[in-house]
Amino acid sequence: MVLINENYLKLKAGYLFPEIERRVKTYKKENPDKKIISLGIGDVTRPLPEAITKAMHLAVAEMATAEGFHGYGPSAGYDFLREKILKFDFSDHGINLEADEIFVSDGSKCDSANIQEIFAKESRIAIPDPVYPVYLDTNVMAGRTGEMDGSGRYSGILYLSCTAENNFLPPLPEKDPDIIYLCFPNNPTGAVATHGVLSDWVKYAKEKRAIILFDAAYEAFIQDKTLPHSIYEIPGAREVAIELRSFSKNAGFTGTRAAYMVIPKILMAFDKGGKPHAVHALWNRRHNTKFNGVSYPIQRAAEAVYASEGRKQVQSLIDYYMKNAAIISRELKSLNLAHWGSDNAPYIWLKTPTLKGSAQRLTSWEFFDLMLNKANLVGTPGSGFGPSGEGYFRLSAFGNRENVEEAVSRISRVLE
Ligand code: PLP
Repeated sequence: MVLINENYLKLKAGYLFPEIERRVKTYKKENPDKKIISLGIGDVTRPLPEAITKAMHLAVAEMATAEGFHGYGPSAGYDFLREKILKFDFSDHGINLEADEIFVSDGSKCDSANIQEIFAKESRIAIPDPVYPVYLDTNVMAGRTGEMDGSGRYSGILYLSCTAENNFLPPLPEKDPDIIYLCFPNNPTGAVATHGVLSDWVKYAKEKRAIILFDAAYEAFIQDKTLPHSIYEIPGAREVAIELRSFSKNAGFTGTRAAYMVIPKILMAFDKGGKPHAVHALWNRRHNTKFNGVSYPIQRAAEAVYASEGRKQVQSLIDYYMKNAAIISRELKSLNLAHWGSDNAPYIWLKTPTLKGSAQRLTSWEFFDLMLNKANLVGTPGSGFGPSGEGYFRLSAFGNRENVEEAVSRISRVLE
């Protein structure tokens, strides 16, 4: 008899997106003639920029020659890519890192899911609520929580409630955590952190000897020039923070898969005797054992993101999505619907309305059903990102323009 890892049984049945899919499928079956528009999941829709596919094609052609063939590569990524990342994402912005502190991977989902395994099972975890569900679920799988309670929270996790009152910025934890997950610009709320906010977190982590896992998957969408793109812009952050970046959202790599994680060599975690160990060395060991690197053509494609044509084309993708965000936000404003995000993030986080004749605001799922049934529009119920997301709804700006325009006019029709 094979015993399973029973922590998996604690996971909330039905991850958010399968439930959305189920409801959409049922609706489609009953209404086959309706055209449904999805501003739901955070997948991009624009094709890969030409400079990127060109680099990919060239690399594939190289692979077909005896001289240009590449077999197993370095598991943490080829130097040609790590050097570009170092220069364009960090050194050019005055951030002092080394190329071998960058671990190239096949996605920030995997990185944010995997990194927790090198920390002790007893580690206390602080997680914002609402949140990108991967941070929480992977800690549940690892056995760092008890069961989920009636309020939708797991015992053993320090939840940091992000609400309109605190501008969706996670408050410093009331109890001391070991690992703190932060994501700016935020999915799902679109909240951003100033230098001041991140400085407070770095100071706090130093005091508590905690480690911050800083997910910057959406940094390229920041428009406000005063906002930090990297946590390493904060003095001292290299001692306490790991940063995750992805090529998925800025360059359209959701189906291509490339990302990276930065682990500074001076970042330490401790054994039971209090002896420090470099997290970098442990992750390097883990990466070499469990990962054989991102494929050569994909790393060449990622490298093209930093070449001059690539940079221009990636910028125009970002501009396109941010214009979508502005179109959605403008429409919601005209409907007097309270919402956040859209300025520096490709997400719009809206507060569900109270319908005429009703005493109560719609729940997230009620609003989802209203949008699906009356506007044939799919968004994401805020409650799926955590209990504090109840009463909110996330719209993504990653649709194509025509759909976004059609979607906002349908929202108006239903809510006016
Ligand atoms: N981190 C956040 C906050 C995300 O929203 C997403 C994707 O939606 C990811 C990471 C995953 O990125 P990747 O495609 O690199 O796995």
